[in-house]
Amino acid sequence: MFEYQLGIDFAKTLDKNDPLALYRNQFHIPKDDTGNDLIYLCGNSLGLQPKTTKQYVNQELEDWATLGVEGHTEARHPWLPYHEFLTESMAKVVGAKPIEVVVMNTLTANLHFMMVSFYQPTPQRYKILIEADAFPSDKYAVESQLRHHGYDDKEAVILWKARKGEELLRYEDLEQILENHGHEIALIMIGGVNYYTGQYFNLKQITNLGHKYGCKVGFDCAHGAGNVALNLHDSGADFAVWCTYKYLNSGPGSLAGAFVHERHAHSKTLNRFTGWWSHNKQTRFKMRDAFDQLPGAEGWQLSNPPILSMAAIRASLDMFNQVGIEKLIEKSKMLTGYFEFLINALKNEHIKIITPKNQEERGCQLSIQVKTADRSLHEKLTNAGIICDWREPDVIRCAPAPLYNTYQDVYNMVEKLKNILNE
Ligand SMILES: *Cc1c(COP(=O)(O)O)cnc(C)c1O
Repeated sequence: MFEYQLGIDFAKTLDKNDPLALYRNQFHIPKDDTGNDLIYLCGNSLGLQPKTTKQYVNQELEDWATLGVEGHTEARHPWLPYHEFLTESMAKVVGAKPIEVVVMNTLTANLHFMMVSFYQPTPQRYKILIEADAFPSDKYAVESQLRHHGYDDKEAVILWKARKGEELLRYEDLEQILENHGHEIALIMIGGVNYYTGQYFNLKQITNLGHKYGCKVGFDCAHGAGNVALNLHDSGADFAVWCTYKYLNSGPGSLAGAFVHERHAHSKTLNRFTGWWSHNKQTRFKMRDAFDQLPGAEGWQLSNPPILSMAAIRASLDMFNQVGIEKLIEKSKMLTGYFEFLINALKNEHIKIITPKNQEERGCQLSIQVKTADRSLHEKLTNAGIICDWREPDVIRCAPAPLYNTYQDVYNMVEKLKNILNE
C-alpha cells in the first residue's frame, strides 16, 4: 500500500509526479476577488468548463450562421447524426457497447422514459424498490410513475434503508427484502453512487439479485459517470441514466445519457414513448411511413437534439477519451485516499467520514460529517475560498475531481478546515 505523508512538501511532490497534472490547465478555474484560484471541490454538482468548450460551441454557432438549415447535412459536424459523434466515447466512459448508449433529453426525463419501458406493473408485481436516501428527483419520479399506473405511492415503494446508527446500506439487507418481497417488486431503481454518502454500489451484484427474483433493474448513475468505472454492460442492468453536467463537465443543465442493455436492443414488445427520432434514420424524412423502430438505445430518442449542448459534451468527452477512464480512476483513488488520510490525521473526534473506506465502494467524493457543525461551517469554508457543498444536518460533501483538482487543493482544504474548527 502507498504511504502518504503529512506536510505541504508531500502534496507538492505528488502534484509534480502526477501524470494528469497538465489537464488542470485545460480548465477555467473559478477565482476569488483577488484573482487566486478557488479550491473547487464541487465537481459532483457542476463540473468545471474545459477551455476547448467555447471552440466546439462556436463552431456550431458559425455553421448555423453561414449554413442555416443546410447545416443539418453540411456542417463540419453535421447536425442530423450529431449525437452519433458522442456515442462511442460516452460508451467508453460508462463501460458499455455503442448500441447500448445514447445522449438525449435530461436526466429525470430519461429516468421517466426508461420507466415507461422497464416499469411494467401487474396486479401481483407492481412495487418499486429504491434506496431510502435516494436523490429527491428520483424519488419523485418513481412515486409519480406509481400514481400514473394507479398505485398508492406510499404502499408501493419499498425502501432499502440503512440500519439504525449507520449511514451505509448493506447487501444482506437488500437480500432480505428480496427474499420477503421479491415476487412483488417490478423494478429496482438505485442511485449507482449515492449522492449523499458517496457509497458506490456493486451494480452487478444488485442486478443479479434483482434478476434472480424476476425484477427489472436500473441505475441512476448521475454521481457515477466520469467518476467510477461503471461497466454498465457487464453489470447486466436493464437500463441506466446519468447527467453530463457533474463529473462530465458539459455545462449547466446539459443533456443526459441513457443505457439500455443490448439484450433489449431489438425488442419490439417493450412499451415505450416514441417520436420521429426513434424512427429508422433511412426513412425518417419521408415523413409518411408507418413507424419503424430504430434498434438500440437510439430508439428511445424522441426529438432532434440541441446541438449547442451536444457540442459542449463532445468537447468534454474528447478530453475523457484522451485521458482514459482507467488513468482517471487511478489518480482519483490516490487523490481521495490522500484526502482521507489528511482528514483522519486531524484526529478530531467530531469528524467522521461517512463515505465507505473501501476504495472499490466509492468514487472521488468524501462526505464528511462534522458533529458540532451547523451551516456556518460551510459559510466559513466558502469565505476561505473552498467551494464544497453542505447537506443538512451536518455533512460537507467534497469531491476532488482528478482532471482538475490537485493534491495541494486537498492539502489546503484540510488545513483551512482545521483552522476553522480550532477557532
Ligand atoms: C443530479 C441528480 C439529478 C438531477 O436531475 P436533473 O433531471 O438533471 O435535474 C437527479 N438524480 C440524481 C441521482 C442526481 O444525482
